[in-house]
Amino acid sequence: EEQFGLNLPNSALNPALAGAVVAHSGIEWRKSMVETWRLDADHAHAILSDGSEVAASLAVAADGRLSPAREAAGISTSARSYPQAALVLNFAHRSDHAFTSTEFHTEIGPFTQVPLPGNRSSLVWVVEPATAKELAALDDATLSMRIEQRMQSMLGRVSVEPGRQIYPLSGVTPRCFARNRVALVGEAAHVFPPIGAQGLNLGIRDIDDLLEITCENRVDPGAVKALRAYDFKRRPDILARSSAVNLLNKSLLSDMLPAQMARSAGLGVLGGFAPLRAFFMREGLRPGSGFAALAGGLRKQVRR
Ligand SMILES: Cc1cc2nc3c(=O)[nH]c(=O)nc-3n(C[C@H](O)[C@H](O)[C@H](O)COP(=O)(O)OP(=O)(O)OC[C@H]3O[C@@H](n4cnc5c(N)ncnc54)[C@H](O)[C@@H]3O)c2cc1C
Repeated sequence: EEQFGLNLPNSALNPALAGAVVAHSGIEWRKSMVETWRLDADHAHAILSDGSEVAASLAVAADGRLSPAREAAGISTSARSYPQAALVLNFAHRSDHAFTSTEFHTEIGPFTQVPLPGNRSSLVWVVEPATAKELAALDDATLSMRIEQRMQSMLGRVSVEPGRQIYPLSGVTPRCFARNRVALVGEAAHVFPPIGAQGLNLGIRDIDDLLEITCENRVDPGAVKALRAYDFKRRPDILARSSAVNLLNKSLLSDMLPAQMARSAGLGVLGGFAPLRAFFMREGLRPGSGFAALAGGLRKQVRR
């Protein structure tokens, strides 16, 4: 790949997605919220707050972590909450970030700087919930100084921009990913701590797989057979990714010293051994692609 990762600010991504929806002749955009779901044997019915109703053989639940559609489909979840919260904000800095993201791992959670265009970055700072509140209440100059100190002045003088948000960390895993004419995508299908920038990418893979399965089941994309195929296809990727992120998050808590040592040793090996690093980077982009590249390399060697 030419780039390992791209950071897309929501302020750029959301209008681009909205523009694509408006320009697509096959999409009718109803802007009212769904008030009630009615799911029967052949159709999912969404009753909107403007009183209108939409019926389809398949409903794609892209309605976030609390997903009313998931609940209507009777899909139960296992939920976890963590003694952590993420303080999220943007800041300007004196030195160039060279389009590099830097993550400081602390006992409470990661402090992740992500480059934005120009000498600006965004920050996801995972701390205890009370600390997040205290930090968010600081004046601009003091908070800027705290951030600069945490980053060991890596990017020079820091000045925070307006807009601070706090997200309590939680995890949600549904028992299945499709049922009763509803297929789950995005955070309706998986919620985990914002570590490793995996959430949106995993959601895009949900949609990729759903598209493939609905194309194979055009006559009735919401039929039990199609929903089972979707559940079967997404399960390994979602469970593996959710467990890896949850484990990484747990290994950062202070009472997990052996896990911290294992993680540091693992990162050290990855940092020093380029082929292994390339393998994990490929697997991070799409499950199986690291193994596929390995097999390709082996085939080339055999041919030689
Ligand atoms: C602090 C933080 C940092 C993150 N950083 C990253 C990152 O760097 N990289 C990454 O890949 N991911 C990141 N994530 C995760 C990413 O934000 C999520 O994976 C993504 O937003 C999920 O998108 P979604 O559309 O599934 O859910 P949401 O963004 O929650 O959207 C759900 C939508 O459904 C709508 N909705 C809900 N109910 C109804 C209803 N009844 N009728 C109609 N509409 C309804 C809501 O209004 C909302 O617009 C981060 C998350 C957090 C909290």
